[in-house]
Amino acid sequence: MAEVYDTENIFAKILRGELPCDKVYEDEHVLAFKDLYPKAPVHVLILPKRPYVSVTDFSQSASDAEIAAWIRAAGNVARELGVAEGGYRVLCNVGRDGHQEVAHLHMHLVGGRDLGGMIRREERQP
Ligand code: 5GP
Repeated sequence: MAEVYDTENIFAKILRGELPCDKVYEDEHVLAFKDLYPKAPVHVLILPKRPYVSVTDFSQSASDAEIAAWIRAAGNVARELGVAEGGYRVLCNVGRDGHQEVAHLHMHLVGGRDLGGMIRREERQP
């Protein structure tokens, strides 16, 4: 079943031009802008323009051109913002367990400092 998309989510408003953003990249399928509350010197959000909630429905319903554009945008942004050489992290939070706050698919591209290990391990049971 397709995920229900809320057209009033904050990124939908940015995509419609109703709210501002600090744009770093745009093409036919993709918009990328700086995260308002950056977790690192470089923190960019990379969105498909069409209304997908998450990787789950995007992977099922998006065209090959949209999927290609989205991942190519990540490489373009990394090169443009000077983190390609030193390294960076891309991730998507999905749903409840992933702590996704905004229900329009976005990839976080984070870098510009040592990001440390990826995810805290679960506490070991005795
Ligand atoms: P999520 O938890 O959904 O993966 O990430 C949502 C991200 O959107 C967070 O990193 C948050 O800082 C960012 N964010 C929330 N509201 C705004 C906004 O109005 N503008 C921008 N540029 N980023 C936002």
